Amino acid sequence: MTSRFSPLRVFLAATVILVSLGLYVVANAIQFASDYRMVTHTYDVLRTLDHIESLKHQAVAESRGYLLAGRADNRDNFWRIGGELQREADLLAERVVDNPPQHERAVALRRALDARLRLSVQAMQSRTPGEAASGTAATIVTAVRSGDADVARRLEQLRMAENQLLSKRSARAERSAWLTLFAAGVGIPLSLMLIGYAQRRLARENRDRKVAERAASASNTELNATVEQLARLSDSMAALSQYSGMLQGASDAQELYEITATTFRQLLPGMGGLLYVIRASRDHAELVAQWGGAVAPNDPAPALQACWSVRRHAPFAMEDLRHGLRCSHIGRPHGAEDVHGLCVPLSAHGEVVGWLSLQGEGRGRIPDESLAIRLCEQLSLALANVRLRESLRHQAVRDPLTGLFNRRYLEESLAREIARCQRRGQPLAVLMLDVDHFKLFNDRHGHAMGDAALSAFARMLKTRCRPEDIACRYGGEEFTLILPETDLATALERAEDIRAGAAMLRIGDPGASMLRITVSIGVALMPEHGDVGLELMRAGDQALYRAKHEGRDRVAVADGRVAAAV
Ligand code: GH3
Ligand code: MG
Ligand code: MG
Repeated sequence: MTSRFSPLRVFLAATVILVSLGLYVVANAIQFASDYRMVTHTYDVLRTLDHIESLKHQAVAESRGYLLAGRADNRDNFWRIGGELQREADLLAERVVDNPPQHERAVALRRALDARLRLSVQAMQSRTPGEAASGTAATIVTAVRSGDADVARRLEQLRMAENQLLSKRSARAERSAWLTLFAAGVGIPLSLMLIGYAQRRLARENRDRKVAERAASASNTELNATVEQLARLSDSMAALSQYSGMLQGASDAQELYEITATTFRQLLPGMGGLLYVIRASRDHAELVAQWGGAVAPNDPAPALQACWSVRRHAPFAMEDLRHGLRCSHIGRPHGAEDVHGLCVPLSAHGEVVGWLSLQGEGRGRIPDESLAIRLCEQLSLALANVRLRESLRHQAVRDPLTGLFNRRYLEESLAREIARCQRRGQPLAVLMLDVDHFKLFNDRHGHAMGDAALSAFARMLKTRCRPEDIACRYGGEEFTLILPETDLATALERAEDIRAGAAMLRIGDPGASMLRITVSIGVALMPEHGDVGLELMRAGDQALYRAKHEGRDRVAVADGRVAAAV
């Protein structure tokens, strides 16, 4: 359909019609002009015939006038009119020379006229003055009548032939006029219609092309956007894999927080962020890292219920932080600009361990929301790993009842601390502690109460430790305290402080009869009592043994020069 009636073809058809019409009209006009000339010619011939007839009557009338009155002017007029008549007859023959039958008739008419004029001349010559008619005259009259009839007949034949030609030529002229009118009446509207149709088709095709161009341009834009999106996605994937690699390499939680802050600052540059970790007690969370500018005040220690993402165990988008629903750990935003945010829960082994809160200027969903969520998934995994590692490490080096370091850790760290203090030329004290008559305590109050007493003692011990001190449960009701860079006097002071602290402990339910314990402490010093851990511990044990022996609930120093110093 489209190919058969393409606008170009329709235009071509309209042009062919118009050109044909033009040629036809021109041809018809030429024909019409020729017909018109022929009609005019016919009229001229008819007029000449009328003139000839009239001249013939005049000539006859003049000759009769002469015959009746004998006036010379009648005769002269006859001769003049007769001559004119002959010229007219010749002219007629000339006019119809292109039409042989008519020309023949015209020549015959000329002959008939000549014959008739000769009769009149004969009659006039034979006239005798005063004698109107004679026998000869009677003969002439008969001939005149026949001559008149002959002329009239020939004139009529010529007229009839011309009239027939006239009607034929008129009919042809009329037909060609009508045909021209018809051709113009049909051809012009038809070609106009075709041109209009082609124009409409062209306009529609133009419109369709524009629509197609727009669609092509839109799909091009879409394609570009997709390519850009893919490039961004690939960048994101690279960033994600780099982030996950770094997280895996992190040795502890603090490093995780630092890597997270740096990564989020780089990948989501417009967004400020806060990283919350839920404390072991699970009563509230702790802000462990923060980056970017804050668009609102944030609670540094919010309750777990403060975050919708923790409550719903799913990311929570805040499209309008100022007017929409927002987590209660986020305060009323600063400034007047639109701000939005996103909180993502961090889960490890099915339990929410914290959340990450992103906040920045803007409205609606934050940009790169899915990237942020995927980064948080990586962070959750890494947090779970670090927690597991820390818990294993804790289990490996800590005593579960008291939370103090265990004996294995003591042996490792004692050697390390001795080496460190030796390098610096500093002393180091080792305190060996033993709860007095603890068997008896157990026997009297039960093993559980014994455990409570050991826990209470350990808690008290921790409060009396500096960060660099190492407090260990050596085994049973025996403890060891390593005091790096501590001289004898300070060590004795610290030992006495701990002893007094133990004596002041009240164990059991408040109100009920509170139980008490005492401890004996043996003190050994590096370098005075040894340079290796085993030696120092043995010396400490000896001092402890002496403290027991001397009555318990006291501090004793290892034997030798040192004891004298005390
Ligand atoms: P001394 O004053 O001479 O040290 O006397 P003692 O009774 O404390 O010493 P002994 O070595 O005879 O008894 C130690 C007791 O400590 C024996 C054991 O039942 C108790 N004990 C060791 N470990 C634990 C523990 O984890 N929990 C409880 N409740 N008791 C423990
Ligand atoms: Mg003991
Ligand atoms: Mg004991």
